[in-house]
Amino acid sequence: MRPDSRHAEGKAHCSRCDAVCCRLTVVLQPEDRIPAHLTARTDANLLVMAHDEDGWCVALDGARMNCGIYESRPEVCRRFVMGGPYCHAVREEYADDQRRLIEVALLS
Ligand code: SF4
Repeated sequence: MRPDSRHAEGKAHCSRCDAVCCRLTVVLQPEDRIPAHLTARTDANLLVMAHDEDGWCVALDGARMNCGIYESRPEVCRRFVMGGPYCHAVREEYADDQRRLIEVALLS
């Protein structure tokens, strides 16, 4: 599990984030050229980026927390605005989830 300390406060920047946006569902577009082993089908038959067991996109380089296919990343990822309202919202939600997990761990 990744620490949450970099998500709670301050101006968003990828260098100070655990790539929380890479936990979102990325629906692939016809123009995306993503290797099949990195993709999955949803119950609604949408082609998406696959996630690992911890919820991160399988294309994420977990050691550096960078996109491992940055040059060929999906269109949805290219359009995601760092520091935009959606970025802030997912960071806050992630930080809240992490705080709740810590509270539960401390109580048990
Ligand atoms: S393709 Fe790259 S930028 Fe897009 S969610 Fe996966 S790791 Fe993140």
